[in-house]
Amino acid sequence: KLGNETLKAELGRAAWKVLHTTMARFPDKPTQDESDALKSYIYLFARLYPCGECAEHFQQILKKYPPQTSSRSSAAAWACFVHNVVNERKGKPIFDCANIGDFYDCGCADDEKEEMA
Ligand code: FAD
Repeated sequence: KLGNETLKAELGRAAWKVLHTTMARFPDKPTQDESDALKSYIYLFARLYPCGECAEHFQQILKKYPPQTSSRSSAAAWACFVHNVVNERKGKPIFDCANIGDFYDCGCADDEKEEMA
């Protein structure tokens, strides 16, 4: 079966959005358990990513650039960096990671405040 570039790109945009938004919501000061959970999530995301060719490449990238999960800012910077590695490979523009700050907003209310309301 032939690949479908349109669907592959759509999947990629959706997946990157989930990944970057997860980083934007990760704690500033995670517990060891939270850091370990994010690390496992990233490795499983790479392993189970539905496009096999992409999964293979991304796992190679993880070997070279292991996930950084010690804080929100390090996790967000890491994800931005590895996305740029994929961008470079595909000949796409490089994203300025200094501007990642408020770019990924989950649209969720502050969960704790919501519980109190
Ligand atoms: P995308 O790269 O999908 O980016 C979406 C949006 O995110 C951009 O419009 C921009 O606003 C923002 N953005 C761009 N760069 C960054 C960054 N560095 N940090 C934060 N935000 C950013 N496709 C292949 O053809 N071959 C592959 O091997 C391949 N591997 C992939 C591996 C993974 C893990 C994922 C999630 C996707 C992969 N893809 C691959 C898909 C590819 O990366 C793109 O998602 C797809 O080509 C669509 O590209 P796009 O130009 O719409 O923007």
